[in-house]
Amino acid sequence: MLVVMKAQATQEEIQAVCDHIEQLGFRPHPLPGAQRTAIGITGNQGEVNRGNLESLSGVAEVIRVSKAYKLASRDVKEEDTVVRFAGTGASIGGRDLAVIAGPCSIESREQAFAIAEQVAAAGAQFFRGGAYKPRTSPYAFQGLGLEALKIMSEVREKFGLRIVTEALDTETLDLVAEWADVIQIGARNMQNFSLLKKAGRLRKPVLIKRGMSATLEELLMAAEYVMSEGNYEVILCERGVRTFSDHARNTLDLSIVPALQHVSHLPILVDPSHGTGRRDSVLPMARAGIAAGADGLIVEVHNHPEIAVSDGPQSLYPEQFRTMMNEIERIAPIVGRNLPRSVNASAVAASGK
Ligand code: PEP
Ligand code: MN
Repeated sequence: MLVVMKAQATQEEIQAVCDHIEQLGFRPHPLPGAQRTAIGITGNQGEVNRGNLESLSGVAEVIRVSKAYKLASRDVKEEDTVVRFAGTGASIGGRDLAVIAGPCSIESREQAFAIAEQVAAAGAQFFRGGAYKPRTSPYAFQGLGLEALKIMSEVREKFGLRIVTEALDTETLDLVAEWADVIQIGARNMQNFSLLKKAGRLRKPVLIKRGMSATLEELLMAAEYVMSEGNYEVILCERGVRTFSDHARNTLDLSIVPALQHVSHLPILVDPSHGTGRRDSVLPMARAGIAAGADGLIVEVHNHPEIAVSDGPQSLYPEQFRTMMNEIERIAPIVGRNLPRSVNASAVAASGK
């Protein structure tokens, strides 16, 4: 159920409707829009009695939302969600493309700094790196944990990059949230409902990667888990799904980009690294992702991919990443976008390092 407030409704009227919804035993989700505020109602198994809601002051109408996902739906919020990072020019969603780049795993301070310097110089505004890694084998490198989080926090200080890193479980989620700017929920965890709910109680943006066999609706229901707990800063990510194709690690399903944008206001990123698993396919699929209308990219970059502890074969060399940035910068205006280059790019370049 959704309460649409009149355009001229006051803050007091909005609050009174929220209080009323709470008194009914449900949860109100006020979602301000450009024209008017909508208030989503969750916590109800069946129909909410709309009678008394419609008569409250400032209410324009009460609408039934028929889709399984509510808060993630465009029915509830028409305008695109833009996740902003206070004190920086960085954002995800909206006209500016967001580029998140860095290694699969943080391996050492030297490795992280060398890569961060290169991706910042090329204009990325976000740095990615795994501290806690979801590995198929328990014998494979599992990540440096807290040490990696501290290294990334130094990267943020030195290069002005926002930090994106994965929270693998509910035990370490708070620690990750303390150090990161964006909490990544990995493909293997897309339906880890306790992790999603706990992330929903935080007030930090959450990047949800599509599960390897998840449908569009299942991905949006994962977002709904986070949003239903009051965290509305959710970013979606297409990272490839399992199909019969054996020419690539996964099949990057770019057609989900317009399909998601049609039904949801949430930003959607494309990950051409996990989506293909092959360095030579990353640049073409990055271009295709932007051309398809994605809000940005998350890409693996390594200074020595041949000795990377994880995902070396799909990691770009720094110069390939620069080429990718230059190419998507040219594609961006064709799809009504702009690629903001990090303010640090010129500073780092000018320092001659
Ligand atoms: C990653 O980003 O390194 C990662 C493990 O991604 P995914 O969850 O999409 O496999
Ligand atoms: Mn990886």
